[in-house]
Amino acid sequence: MSTKSREVIWGGQIMGAAMRANQARVDAESAVREADRAEAEAWSVRMEGYGGPAQPSPTIGQCLNGGFGWLEVECARRKTRASLPLDAIRRPKDTPLWKLEASLKCRACRTTRYAPPASMIKLTETRQITPYKWVHPTEDR
Ligand SMILES: [Zn+2]
Repeated sequence: MSTKSREVIWGGQIMGAAMRANQARVDAESAVREADRAEAEAWSVRMEGYGGPAQPSPTIGQCLNGGFGWLEVECARRKTRASLPLDAIRRPKDTPLWKLEASLKCRACRTTRYAPPASMIKLTETRQITPYKWVHPTEDR
């Protein structure tokens, strides 16, 4: 059998298999995205509707992958709310959201000695509230 006819016989099958592999990869990615989205949504509903528990929670990366880019938080003192962009939080993307809560502080109410804690309310796809002055988890100066 010549190389040429071998290509004719097998070439199409190889190409077909490669295309199916590609498609399967795309499908798998969108399945992961769907799962991340569902998990983020479930967490968000639990937080907003039942006030928690915050743990277990999806990771920053899962929220972003699922299309939720914003975390709405509420100041424990004045009950003002603000939206934090998850992609700007300088923590590893595999950090679960509940780990952020301890370091969320309201900068607007902060005195030299004390900053009121902020609680996580829900996840949103877009910024729904004008960002306020919040102490970010990693810029607690
Ligand atoms: Zn405050």
